[in-house]
Amino acid sequence: MIVVTLNEDKFAYDIHSLIKAFYPAQDVKVFVEGEKELTSDAGLPAFFVRFAEESITAGYNCGPQSYFYACNTNKLERSEVKNSLKQLLYGMLSELTGQKLPWGTLTGIRPTKIAMQLLEEGKSEDEIRSYMQDTYLASAEKTELSIDIAKREQEILADIHYEDGYSLYIGIPFCPTTCLYCSFTSYPICAWKNRVSEYLAAMEKEIDFVKEACRDRILDSVYIGGGTPTTLEADELERLLSKVRESFDFSHVQEFTVEAGRADSITREKLEVLKKYGVTRISVNPQTMKDETLRMIGRRHTVEQVIEAYKLAREIGFDNINMDLILGLPGEDEADVANTIERVKELDPDSLTVHSLAVKRASRLAQWIQDNGISTLNNTDQTMEIAAAGAKAMGMEPYYLYRQKNMSGNFENVGYAKPGKAGIYNILIMEEKESIMAIGAGTISKVVFGDGRIERCDNVKDVALYIDRIDEMIERKRQLLCLEKQEQTV
Ligand code: SF4
Repeated sequence: MIVVTLNEDKFAYDIHSLIKAFYPAQDVKVFVEGEKELTSDAGLPAFFVRFAEESITAGYNCGPQSYFYACNTNKLERSEVKNSLKQLLYGMLSELTGQKLPWGTLTGIRPTKIAMQLLEEGKSEDEIRSYMQDTYLASAEKTELSIDIAKREQEILADIHYEDGYSLYIGIPFCPTTCLYCSFTSYPICAWKNRVSEYLAAMEKEIDFVKEACRDRILDSVYIGGGTPTTLEADELERLLSKVRESFDFSHVQEFTVEAGRADSITREKLEVLKKYGVTRISVNPQTMKDETLRMIGRRHTVEQVIEAYKLAREIGFDNINMDLILGLPGEDEADVANTIERVKELDPDSLTVHSLAVKRASRLAQWIQDNGISTLNNTDQTMEIAAAGAKAMGMEPYYLYRQKNMSGNFENVGYAKPGKAGIYNILIMEEKESIMAIGAGTISKVVFGDGRIERCDNVKDVALYIDRIDEMIERKRQLLCLEKQEQTV
């Protein structure tokens, strides 16, 4: 454990995130001095931050020695004080650990939002470059990537109806089995088989509400995710998709995605149902093309099944297929990643989403790592480059990017796509520019107001509670939309 003490309760979250980025394997505790009696573990530094009227001092104790770093904050705005503090900490942590972080002081999950905002303000690329490198100490490479993606996002979202439009998300929280690293709302289907019909009925109620509440708005995109929607049987998928199609006006919908992620859930009959109801984009996710790893992470399907499912989808006529990969999986090195990329290249999907493994503290993976005495997971610059080069060789370009906490190697997740095949909903959810109505257990709806402010309401994660409390879920949405209406009429 690493302990950080503050003299005032300010910027604790940012301080925690930055120190954690340098010490991903350590538990970091930040508190105001006097609140607790904790010390860092032997061999680890104890940090402190002192805020004064016109300056900040930060430092650390290592044995009997103390080290101090200071910066002036006189006349700075709060956001500038935060940036100065993070620069100060970054310099100190870099010196202490000998490390530099590719994203510098940026610890949030949407770094491209900064480049996007600056582009919208009319800043030149050079100005954006300087700002990201001077203010956040981001590397030249990540700065270029952010600008490149922000420009592409602007093009892709050119026809989205920000003011009077919305997107729809439907969550199916079931999977064939639970993957070791899973951090989503997902339950093994075998435990819920008998209640799927009730779950669908509850969602139908929610669909009816959204249909009425949004009847004056333009639907831009529809995304059915989870979980794994294709865990539902073909007749259950038919029930859901027919309800969606008859409830909403699809005349402006630019993308209709259904995640068919797990190869062990895909059948010809199910894919035919998706096709029949006009699904335009699906994903068939290998994560890795190494059977041994697939077994280890609990996916219970083989590489061969991924290839078969993919070929079947092509045969049925899907011309926009995404594949998800994860880098930094336990036991995988650069050669494994290179092999995965080569196998994926043979299949030639339309888009590729490359994730860096994120270890959530409460996940089964965190426990597994501990039980197996694994100190780090092996994601490196080199594996990220192998994936990026593979995507490029398939004619794809990066179009969206996000980061998560505790990502292996402190990298990012990047979506690559061939021209015209980008996942529009993926950008919308990341850039938070359009309201999203979300249906199903564990989903979160959000309304984006004219001034950029965002209000959210969530549905309970537990499937049984969701079914029992569906009227309450609908009421939450009603309140959210009322709030929006009130603001529009003021
Ligand atoms: S397929 Fe995705 S949602 Fe399902 S268990 Fe695996 S990680 Fe979780």
